[in-house]
Order: sequence, then C-alpha cells, then structure tokens
Amino acid sequence: MKIERVDHGNHAFDDPVLVKRLAQQQTPLTMCPISNLRLKGIPSLSASPVKKALDAGVLVTVNSDDPSYFRGILTIITVQFMMH
Ligand SMILES: [Zn+2]
Repeated sequence: MKIERVDHGNHAFDDPVLVKRLAQQQTPLTMCPISNLRLKGIPSLSASPVKKALDAGVLVTVNSDDPSYFRGILTIITVQFMMH
C-alpha cells in the first residue's frame, strides 16, 4: 500500500530512520504549525518541525488544519514562517 500523505507527522522526527524513508519516498507531510501552537502541541513556532523536515529533504505542505477552527489564517501562517 502506498501512503499518499501523512497528516502532521510531527513525531516522525523522533525517528531518523523514518525521516530518511519519508524523504526517499517523497511522502508529503501536511503540517499545521499554528494549530500545533494553539493546541499547545509545541511551545513556540520555532519548535515546529517544518524546518527540520525541509532540511531533511522531506516534502512539506503548511496548512491551517481544521478549517472550522482555524479558518482564514493561512496567510498569517505564511508570513509568520517567513519571519522565523
Ligand atoms: Zn489536524
């Protein structure tokens, strides 16, 4: 079975072998750093594994997560990331 994407995937970065595999297979992670921050999954935006993922060659999309809770903040996410 081919996995087409992994939602969030933050904990993949606990396992370097898995990170390598995600990069090799080009399996995208749909990451939601603002949602992680708001739900206290991470203490700050810079603690988000987005940069780690990019550095490791893993495909990443940055998303707003559940649109009913996090509607319309994708622009903010983009801007905040450009500033970090
Ligand atoms: Zn989610």
